[in-house]
Amino acid sequence: MAKRDYYEVLGVSKTATKEEMKKAYRKKALQYHPDRNPGDQEAEDKFKEAAEAYEVLSDDQKRGAYDRFGHAGVGGAAGGARYEDIFSQFGDIFGADSPFGDIFGGQAGGGRRRRRRGQRGSDIRIKMGLTLEQIASGVEKTIKINKQVACDSCSGTGAENGTAFTTCPTCNGAGEIRQQAGGGFFQQIVVSTCPTCQGEGRIISRNCNTCDGKGRTESEDKVTLNIPAGVQEGMNLSVRGRGNAGIRGGAAGDLIIQIEEKPHDFFQRDGDNLLHELFISFPDAALGTSVEVPTLDGKVRIKISEGTQAGKVVRLKGKGIPNINGYGVGNLLVHINVWTPEKLTSEERKWMEQLRDSQNFHPNPSHEQKGLFSKIREFFS
Ligand SMILES: [Zn+2]
Ligand SMILES: [Zn+2]
Repeated sequence: MAKRDYYEVLGVSKTATKEEMKKAYRKKALQYHPDRNPGDQEAEDKFKEAAEAYEVLSDDQKRGAYDRFGHAGVGGAAGGARYEDIFSQFGDIFGADSPFGDIFGGQAGGGRRRRRRGQRGSDIRIKMGLTLEQIASGVEKTIKINKQVACDSCSGTGAENGTAFTTCPTCNGAGEIRQQAGGGFFQQIVVSTCPTCQGEGRIISRNCNTCDGKGRTESEDKVTLNIPAGVQEGMNLSVRGRGNAGIRGGAAGDLIIQIEEKPHDFFQRDGDNLLHELFISFPDAALGTSVEVPTLDGKVRIKISEGTQAGKVVRLKGKGIPNINGYGVGNLLVHINVWTPEKLTSEERKWMEQLRDSQNFHPNPSHEQKGLFSKIREFFS
């Protein structure tokens, strides 16, 4: 299913302030919260959709990337908020007067009280340098990473054979401890995570021999990545669940690929466009000629017409970089420079002296040519 626009999801304008966004998200979250709509899959999907939109739009950096590149800029199809993350946002969103106080309150950090198994593994970040050619075509890359994987012998639990557990004696398997506080009318039940089992409800009776009870071992992972055409310097692509394994049954972290663009000998990139500086000789500019210019897929010939001025920009349509969101392909902009000789023989000097006084060599730009600089600014800004 195609993702909806995040602003649309929250029902706010593209210029909405953080405060407006927070309000809008709070409204949606209250409306679609799973505890208010038990068993309603559509409500749950809408709840997650709103949480994901808010996660991106409430973060200046992510919002900037989303505004520029759309969903691809914030992880694309692989993106999306983790369900646990959604709950951790509530402490902030609902504050002390939360209508879900009994659900979200109580525990430090505002997370939903639930029996946890293990701890989430850490993310792995790697940098990937790509040439403009690879970026233009998209590229498949297989990389090897050393990471923590779940121990085979104990299925990541840390207990021998994955079975050597006993019920936690402190909480009797509940994972939490209830204590009465206060007295008389003001009795209060305080619930906290069991310190013995960290909320797991069980403890290991015999450690796994292979991993010494950690539930993880070091191993090499091979990951094949399909980098889409049009990625940009600094973009992060995340592969859910391919980071380090969680500790004792916790979810795995993510593998995050940070794109780096390698400098190119002939081109500079400007969004989806490529810029190329072409130098032609003074006689070629005056007499006209045709010259070869490089493109990402081989050379092409362009015509230099008679009387070409320095600063002219020739646009080679579709010879740029494909837009990451599928909005067509950029152009190659060839910026023409006229090469001025930096040293002259005495003979060349004589010819130049003659040309200097020749009538057609006196600059006489038309009104339109005087506007050239603003055109260049347009192209290069
Ligand atoms: Zn316990
Ligand atoms: Zn093990």
